Amino acid sequence: MHHLASDAPRLIRHYIAGEFVGSDRSFVKTSPVDGRPLATVCEAGADQVQDAVAVARAALNGPWGKLKTAERCAMLHRIADGIERRFDDFVAAEVADTGRPVSQARTLDIARGIANFRTFADLARTAHGELFQTPTADGAGALNYVVRKPLGVVAVISPWNLPLLLLTWKVAPALAMGNTVVAKPSEETPSSAALLAEVIDEAGLPPGVFNLLHGFGPDSTGEFLTRHPDLAAITFTGESRTGSTIMKAAADGVKDVSFELGGKNAAVVFADADFDAALDGVMRSTFTNAGQVCLCSERVYVERPIFEKFVAAMKARTEALRLGYPDDDGVAMGPLVSQGHRAKVLSYYRLAVEEGAKVVTGGGVPHFGDARDQGAFVQPTIWTGLPDHARCMREEVFGPVCHIAPFDTEDEAIRRANDSDYGLAACVWTTNLARAHRVAQQFHTGIAWVNTWFLRDLRSPFGGAKLSGLGREGGRHSLDFYSEITNICIKL
Ligand code: NAD
Repeated sequence: MHHLASDAPRLIRHYIAGEFVGSDRSFVKTSPVDGRPLATVCEAGADQVQDAVAVARAALNGPWGKLKTAERCAMLHRIADGIERRFDDFVAAEVADTGRPVSQARTLDIARGIANFRTFADLARTAHGELFQTPTADGAGALNYVVRKPLGVVAVISPWNLPLLLLTWKVAPALAMGNTVVAKPSEETPSSAALLAEVIDEAGLPPGVFNLLHGFGPDSTGEFLTRHPDLAAITFTGESRTGSTIMKAAADGVKDVSFELGGKNAAVVFADADFDAALDGVMRSTFTNAGQVCLCSERVYVERPIFEKFVAAMKARTEALRLGYPDDDGVAMGPLVSQGHRAKVLSYYRLAVEEGAKVVTGGGVPHFGDARDQGAFVQPTIWTGLPDHARCMREEVFGPVCHIAPFDTEDEAIRRANDSDYGLAACVWTTNLARAHRVAQQFHTGIAWVNTWFLRDLRSPFGGAKLSGLGREGGRHSLDFYSEITNICIKL
């Protein structure tokens, strides 16, 4: 019997004003591994969105608003303790909704969820502000200093690809800075968010401080929430197109927005790179989470002298990737998140061939001969031979696929890496120190990695250039976004 195969379908409800409540409308969440129903999920209508925002607003003036920062931060540590206590439940929830390897959920998703609460609790507790002594004509001077206050009600809208990690990345700093929250996870991944509501309930946050609504985006919970006039800010992770829609909704009330959006990220491998490290790195940056990470490399540029060798090595490593059940020994890749997303990825697999790609490996659907054939698996895929203007080189596929192209000079590599409407992340692989700095500094991206990928310090800024986002979060950038800063000027 495979992990989770015996789980009975459950009812997933909203969490509003400290109560778990249902709705008239609901939908069924199915397993991406084999298509079986996993849960019935309530869908919040406009009235429940109204309730959640109203209680979140009222909670700003209740006991939550009177807590000292240290007390609030202690509550955040209690939430982290609660996730740790129920670690296996969180892993099971994330694995069931996404089909990802259990090992990934343990080491990445849930571990980072805990780290998000601990990091922002500690950062908020030790936050300090600017102070300027200003000369004045009378010689006495003036003192400028800043105080931070909560913004108000923050809407958090998160995607399905790293569900708990990306939800808590925004919920934790929003709470740490004293705001109240109405969160909506993706309709594809409601389960770990529902567990988070239970843990927050147990941690003793006052009712209304954290509220969770389930539902879809357009013409559903997400749209009703982002159009609500009483929000102070909307923080969103997801597709660039959705970000644009949400920005329009936010314009009416001039609400603060922070967006972490899509990517079409480049990896540049020089002939002087440590070949094996670069190969490992590009394998990880292409196939982690079946390519469903905003930071994944879909465009790989390899210096011509090692191009053929690199493509051959990638092909061999890709064909050895083990696809399967989340708890299979040595499983490297699970399914995509849904049949709908699989249809999108497969449409790019077909388009690439129409655009003239050579399919080095993959390009189709694996056959298992068992229940997994009802799941959303695709083959990990490598293309070569596409021109830089091909749609498959410009649009985010968000699947286990990369295109590998040769280049001849450093300037050419930088120019082609930057030739994108997106600007989230880029990697350079080289052992030449000066080149590493030179290239990394010229990437038009929010994040540039040298000889690594996905290595994060949660205190450092995170976000995207161009279509990949608006603003930065992480460390003090999060503290700044989630607070209203007042400058106080005192004439001495
Ligand atoms: P999505 O934009 O389809 O959905 C994200 C969330 O927004 C979901 O909760 C969805 O229900 C909601 N939503 C959709 N339409 C809405 C609307 N009109 N109004 C309000 N809410 C709406 O994205 P997805 O498919 O869930 O996630 C994948 C995308 O997210 C990819 O493009 C990926 O690159 C991006 N992403 C970016 C980052 C980053 O940090 N830059 C991280 C992870 C994922």
